[in-house]
Amino acid sequence: MNDELPVIGKDALGRVIKDWSFKPWWGVDRKEIEWYPKINYDKCIGCGVCFITCANRIVFDWDEEKKKPVVARPYNCVVACTTCKTLCPVDALEFPEKEYIQNIIKKHKILVKAKETLKNHNLI
Ligand code: SF4
Ligand code: SF4
Repeated sequence: MNDELPVIGKDALGRVIKDWSFKPWWGVDRKEIEWYPKINYDKCIGCGVCFITCANRIVFDWDEEKKKPVVARPYNCVVACTTCKTLCPVDALEFPEKEYIQNIIKKHKILVKAKETLKNHNLI
C-alpha cells in the first residue's frame, strides 16, 4: 500500500514526498481525522528540528523567506504521533487533546477491530 501512494514532489532537502492522506487509518478516511500539528509562530524560533525530523511523512515545508516551518501536508501526519511536539525546544507545536482521538476510537469501534486482528492471528 505504501509503495502505491502517489509521489507529489520533493521537499527543500530533496526528500521524496508521498501523499499519505490516501492511506486510511484503521479503515477510516484519513481526511476525516483532524490530527496534525499547528505552529504557534509567536513561540517558534525556526530551529528546523520538526521539519527535519518528520522525514518519512514530510508534513512540513520550509518557508525560505520567513525561515520557519509550514504545515503543508496535514493529512500526512501519523494519527496520534506527537514526535515533533516532543522535540520542539520551545513548545511551539500544538495538537488536539487526547479526548479527541479517544472519541474517534470509540466512534469507529477500533477496540473491536484490534481484538479481531489479534484473534485472527491466534494471539488471544
Ligand atoms: S506528529 Fe509525527 S508525523 Fe506528525 S508532523 Fe509531527 S513528527 Fe510528523
Ligand atoms: S521544532 Fe519548534 S521551534 Fe523548531 S522550527 Fe519546529 S516549531 Fe519552530
